[in-house]
Amino acid sequence: MGKVLVTGGAGFIGSHLVDRLLKDGCDVVVLDDFSTGRPQNLEHHKNNRKLKLVQIDISEYSKIEKFFKNVDWVFHLAALADIVPSIKKPFKYHKSNVNGTISVLEASRVNEVKRFVYAASSSCYGIPDQYPTPETAEIRTEYPYALTKNIAEQYVIHWGKIYGLPVVSLRMFNVYGPRSRTSGTYGAVFGVFLAQKLHNKPFTVVGNGNQTRDFTFVSDIVDAYIQVAESDMCNEIFNLGSGQTYSINRLVELLGGDILYVPKRPGEPDCTFAEISKIQKMIGWKAVIPFENGVQTMLDNIDYWQEAPVWTPEKIKEATREWFQYLGK
Ligand code: UDP
Repeated sequence: MGKVLVTGGAGFIGSHLVDRLLKDGCDVVVLDDFSTGRPQNLEHHKNNRKLKLVQIDISEYSKIEKFFKNVDWVFHLAALADIVPSIKKPFKYHKSNVNGTISVLEASRVNEVKRFVYAASSSCYGIPDQYPTPETAEIRTEYPYALTKNIAEQYVIHWGKIYGLPVVSLRMFNVYGPRSRTSGTYGAVFGVFLAQKLHNKPFTVVGNGNQTRDFTFVSDIVDAYIQVAESDMCNEIFNLGSGQTYSINRLVELLGGDILYVPKRPGEPDCTFAEISKIQKMIGWKAVIPFENGVQTMLDNIDYWQEAPVWTPEKIKEATREWFQYLGK
């Protein structure tokens, strides 16, 4: 494949996707405003002339449109993440996640890209009735982040239906891997635990730690993106998960260290678990990295979290105040 555009390409998943595309010989354009993405995530490509890195706000259609000329594939990963900031600043989240998506869709349509892949979120399922959770499960968005990601997904599918843009949406479960976010916001358990381990502090386990997550290693996710782009699927939504679910206690056991318990947060599912037979059947993709190996890779790369905030129960209480206030009803 020739030219590929990745929005959010300086972020955690985006930067791994860019690594893979450059390795495969593609010309890659990255649009990123560095709000949570970090230029350091692409530092190792700084002398690679096949990569063009543009700092830009994707919601500004008139500014981004020109970068889509002659682009074959678009991977749209740029978005604001995290729960509490989305409760505090819903308009900001709407602008980035919804307006940003419409802008990227339009630029893709006008320039007749051959493939548009959207990074959707499994947070659309809220607390589901069914485990493993299939793509057909009811949409239950519990906070503005989940809502904006789901509204944007509806736009993506709509652009496929109305304009014939070849779109696919991938609903990702708990993705982890090197460079997973270290921004100041509380969230994403791996960043929290690895920073705690580096500083010999106890792991802040939520609830009793028996809750489980469908943790999927980032290299598996990147393989799925590429396989989906190479396929001729159009207007489909796929779950992207390992199809397994692991407890937080198991994660702590693998990482090794002391525990401090913090209160369970309202609206938080006891389990996330992707039903993955659709993508397995239609694309032939399946995650292959065992959880134990993925966690070991995180430990091997632990220095990345040197500057990440070290969360204590007191700081977590403060950072999750709005979470308890608005979702605890
Ligand atoms: N978690 C935890 N301690 C923390 C942060 C998270 O035990 O300091 C747990 C949390 O309860 C959840 C899992 O780790 O079961 C994943 O949390 P994350 O915020 O990464 O993802 P999400 O809850 O959105 O699936």
